[in-house]
Amino acid sequence: MRLVLLGPPGAGKGTQAKVLSEKLKLKHISTGDILRQSIKQNTPLGVRAKRYVESGELVPDDLVTEIVIDSVGSNDTKDGFILDGFPRNVQQAESLDSFLRDKYSLDYLVIYLDANINTLIQRLSGRRICRNCQAVFHLVNMPPKKEGFCDFCQGVLYQRPDDTEETIKNRLQVYNQQTAPVVDYYAKSKRLVRIEADKEAGVVLKEMLDVLNRHSYAL
Ligand code: ADP
Ligand code: AMP
Repeated sequence: MRLVLLGPPGAGKGTQAKVLSEKLKLKHISTGDILRQSIKQNTPLGVRAKRYVESGELVPDDLVTEIVIDSVGSNDTKDGFILDGFPRNVQQAESLDSFLRDKYSLDYLVIYLDANINTLIQRLSGRRICRNCQAVFHLVNMPPKKEGFCDFCQGVLYQRPDDTEETIKNRLQVYNQQTAPVVDYYAKSKRLVRIEADKEAGVVLKEMLDVLNRHSYAL
């Protein structure tokens, strides 16, 4: 199964992708996680991407597209993958299509997680991430069992530097200007299914699984 998760920052793409990838044994490819990891390790990619990620701008297409094509083309995606955070503009969507057309005859589904702006701001401002394993929590909606520490690996939780008020505003603007047109791009090709993601995480997951079932993807 090949799945793309689309939606504004804070819609719950990463949260759902982690659960779905474990449940369905699919590789989870998050461009945001890869970029943050590269910045942390000071790799050449990280050095080039840092200022964009910190300010909430999109990292140049050539850099992210290369990461995705390397990941999607690698051996561990044989059973499928979940792309989270890519594509983020129409140019990236076209690059993905041209790569997948050659490799898999373009067979993939796009789930669009949609949520209203107040939900997004509340989720992004309360989000906390494990420094060690990147698990995602929320101060109010999904608090860890022990304040400040990851439930899974006891790593320290931190607030992403781009989850501050000013940068959240910019990321939502970047989403509206550059990523929202990708929704229309996929709607035209009839590969898009929209889910209301304002709901509780378990309900959203169930609706996603129903969609996958309806599209006769083996579960
Ligand atoms: P995205 O990857 O789309 O930016 P995340 O999955 O990181 O979004 O979720 C953003 C924040 O919202 C996180 O703190 C997460 O714990 C929380 N969250 C995700 N889904 C839900 C939900 N359905 N209800 C409440 N909070 C949620
Ligand atoms: P995310 O973790 O998906 O919220 O992404 C965090 C940041 O990484 C974004 O604000 C961008 O700066 C960068 N990023 C992630 N994915 C992409 C992409 N597909 N294209 C460009 N920049 C990206």
